[in-house]
Amino acid sequence: MRKKKAAPKRGTYGKKAGFRRVYKKRGADDRNYENPLYVRWRNRVRERDNKTCQWPGCGKRGSLQVHHILKWSEHPLLRYEVSNGICLCSKCHKKIWKKENEFAAFFMSILSMKLAERLKKT
Ligand SMILES: [Zn+2]
Repeated sequence: MRKKKAAPKRGTYGKKAGFRRVYKKRGADDRNYENPLYVRWRNRVRERDNKTCQWPGCGKRGSLQVHHILKWSEHPLLRYEVSNGICLCSKCHKKIWKKENEFAAFFMSILSMKLAERLKKT
């Protein structure tokens, strides 16, 4: 049986986020969104972020995407590392397109502040 679900989802994602050209150009983005490891990683990040966009001041709960803070293509060992993921809505995700590396430290500081808050509470 062929995976009918995966293909259109990926297409829509690419179209909406403007990633299609990147896929074509690089050809290196071989990620499979249906991979159980990927699914588990995505779910864990969503749970941790309370299914909310983590961009400061956004807090949107719809059309969430899980972003790799350190890029998928450049950091294979961190692909399924929960601390390397962050929830962003599609709008906020677009803001950082092609600037992923510039934003890595920014997202890490957001996550570490949240972690510190959580540790204080417990
Ligand atoms: Zn957002």
